[in-house]
Amino acid sequence: MTNLKTFKLIERISTLVRSEERKKLAALGLQPIHIQVLDYLDSCNSYSNTAAAITEYFGLTKGTVSQSLQVLERKAFIAKTLDPEDARIFHLTLTEEGRNLLELVHADDVFAQAELAVQNQQYSSIDAALLAALETLQKTHKAPSFGTCDTCVNFDVEDNHYLCSITRLPLFQAETDKICREHIPADAA
Ligand code: SF4
Repeated sequence: MTNLKTFKLIERISTLVRSEERKKLAALGLQPIHIQVLDYLDSCNSYSNTAAAITEYFGLTKGTVSQSLQVLERKAFIAKTLDPEDARIFHLTLTEEGRNLLELVHADDVFAQAELAVQNQQYSSIDAALLAALETLQKTHKAPSFGTCDTCVNFDVEDNHYLCSITRLPLFQAETDKICREHIPADAA
């Protein structure tokens, strides 16, 4: 069953994936919304592949959507075709370049890999698979781990009290469950 810990892991992985995706896209002169629009066009039907539907789906202004579509069209990631029944409507479809771009951006689908790892019984739960995926991502991108005390190399116990060995100050139980920017994974030491 999906619990709060699972959602938090998904949120942390998503944040890291989005941040890496932003870097990849910036190199291509694109922004996350451009990929979101391509993803939308890849999954919607022919009644829904219009600028108006995209505006409605993302809750953005017409101007923002129009600018994004201009960029995608200029870079040949989408193509426009006139509606055969209504000359005021254009339908938008992914070009081959658009599909290739989506494949490139989604090449490392962490969630699909985690699901596969659980199916292959590499991990006993989705949480364990997600945690492993998060740690791999953090190592690959040299991102700070922002973990909790129980997995930190600096976590210590002295005279029956929890202690952070960086500050040598006691840690209260409630604090040990919070994420920390100074966290260093114990298995990285
Ligand atoms: S560095 Fe942070 S995570 Fe590690 S023991 Fe100290 S307070 Fe906890």
